[in-house]
Amino acid sequence: MNLLIMGLPGAGKGTQAETIVATYGVKHISTGDMFREAMKNETEMGKLAKSFMDKGELVPDDVTNGIVKERLAQADIQATGFLLDGFPRTIEQAYALDTMLVALGIKLDAVVNIAVNPDILLERLSGRFICRTCGATYHKIFNPTKVEGTCDKCGGHDFYQREDDKPEAVKNRLDINIKQGAPILAHYSKLGLVKEVDGQQEIEKVSEAIKAILG
Ligand SMILES: [Zn+2]
Repeated sequence: MNLLIMGLPGAGKGTQAETIVATYGVKHISTGDMFREAMKNETEMGKLAKSFMDKGELVPDDVTNGIVKERLAQADIQATGFLLDGFPRTIEQAYALDTMLVALGIKLDAVVNIAVNPDILLERLSGRFICRTCGATYHKIFNPTKVEGTCDKCGGHDFYQREDDKPEAVKNRLDINIKQGAPILAHYSKLGLVKEVDGQQEIEKVSEAIKAILG
């Protein structure tokens, strides 16, 4: 089985990817892992990617695509199938993936999309706050202080949020992901490949839904 997994930040993609890999024995291939392996093994594309990174430059799309293609061409993938995670990130990368799959004679079976309302994700992802006095971390919903406005550990009242955790930053991150993901989902929908799963249920329920869809 050859799969893509998609979902906004905070939608639980990582957890569900682990379950899919454990259930179906497919290889989990994430962009980060592919880059690390390609550079460690000094593949043609790995060396090229490193040359850009060493200069502090962004790795161009054709190099990223090349790294994915090198990985998909390896024998273990043909034997077990794969779950591609974190790629494609743009519609151009999706088109490139289509082309390389055709070249490799690989058929994509499904695109699992874990759908969660962005407002809920905003709440989940922007809830983290930190005690300025002792550094204890809390979350407005998942791990609040016992007494509102008072640190459980040190009794302090002064809290702050990391820049990345602030609602504006989180919203911006979500908006970029939505904008980039929409044409990719539309593309694979047209091909009848998108399997949408309600990611707003409990983790186990989401896993069950995925299994029911993939069979
Ligand atoms: Zn504290």
